[in-house]
Amino acid sequence: MTEVTTGGGFGGFSIDFGAGAPADGTDIVPVRSTSSEGPLEATVVIVGSGPAGLTAAIYASRAGLEPVVLAGHEPGGQLMLTSDVENYPGFPDGIQGPDLMARFRAQAERFGSRVIDVAVDRVDFSERPFRLWADGVEYRARAVIIATGASALWLGIESETRLRGRGVSACATCDGFFFRDRDVAVIGGGDTALEEALYLTRFARSVRMIVRRDEFRGSRIMQERALADPKISVEWTSQVAQVLGDAKVEGLRLRDSRTGVERDVALDGVFVAIGHRPNTAVFRDWLDLDEKGYLHVHEHSGSGIPGVFVAGDVDDPHYRQAVTAAGEGARAAIDAERWLESEDAAMVASAAAS
Ligand SMILES: Cc1cc2nc3c(=O)[nH]c(=O)nc-3n(C[C@H](O)[C@H](O)[C@H](O)COP(=O)(O)OP(=O)(O)OC[C@H]3O[C@@H](n4cnc5c(N)ncnc54)[C@H](O)[C@@H]3O)c2cc1C
Repeated sequence: MTEVTTGGGFGGFSIDFGAGAPADGTDIVPVRSTSSEGPLEATVVIVGSGPAGLTAAIYASRAGLEPVVLAGHEPGGQLMLTSDVENYPGFPDGIQGPDLMARFRAQAERFGSRVIDVAVDRVDFSERPFRLWADGVEYRARAVIIATGASALWLGIESETRLRGRGVSACATCDGFFFRDRDVAVIGGGDTALEEALYLTRFARSVRMIVRRDEFRGSRIMQERALADPKISVEWTSQVAQVLGDAKVEGLRLRDSRTGVERDVALDGVFVAIGHRPNTAVFRDWLDLDEKGYLHVHEHSGSGIPGVFVAGDVDDPHYRQAVTAAGEGARAAIDAERWLESEDAAMVASAAAS
């Protein structure tokens, strides 16, 4: 079984931290391809199983396209790393991230999507059918939807991983609301960190920015806004040695990057804002990327190669929300379906003409 790394616990700090398995008994069950008889052929292959990929799968399967979803190393995507999701429409009481993603997957599978828990390590988009490889198995597809997301970068320390969803977050828009009248920290000194800090002042009692250097990297206007805000203070030349707390965040142990001296500060929440890494390495040789590695979208959800479509955070450094990713998944599946239809019509017309 896929290990569900949830905690629960942002919502008012009173939620049972043991939550994890979806409440309705559904669960994410890994499926591995055992194909040893040559390539696995599909009309549509969807790469990624977050909100974008699984929404694309729901639409494509309901259109009768029998999509194959290659789920990657994080089946369910980024929401598997969080607890309470309170801004996804349709759940007035909120829902746990892993529970929501299990429902996405169950809905996609109900209409015939086949979800395989492998990560694509190579593609060849030079001709049709498009070819993709994962775990040594080749997949061939008439159309491909890329929904590989953009992973939040983390500090990589054990205490941070342990307290994710228990006061450690990487998304102020998603989790800021849970920190009303609390003391929080934002780690990072770039524009994203400054934006997150300013956003958090709407809820938090105080926002402490933890900056490794003795200056910000972000734009001057953002710096000025942050420094002028009475709720924001800055800990310069400071690195996080440890996130403090057992069941939930209680503070940070900071290390001065010049002197090495450590000190503890009491906090209720920690927002890591050191950037995102779009998961586009395997597509780099085939598709247009921007300077940060995000996929460039051409007309509608097109990638620039007819038949290859793009959806979700992998092309979106701006909104980065489950609902926007899901919306893009729907768009990409509709575009893929219409493109396949037009290809079929063109083939019929050309056969009739010859
Ligand atoms: C801590 C945290 C809390 C959040 N809370 C909220 C919230 O409350 N509300 C909200 O709306 N949003 C929230 N978000 C943001 C939300 O999770 C993302 O916007 C959303 O998941 C993006 O969906 P996606 O499908 O584009 O990508 P992702 O969810 O990132 O999914 C990407 C998928 O691609 C797969 N993949 C990657 N590489 C490959 C490969 N080579 N081959 C095959 N598959 C691959 C991965 O395994 C994964 O399944 C949160 C994010 C974080 C980090």
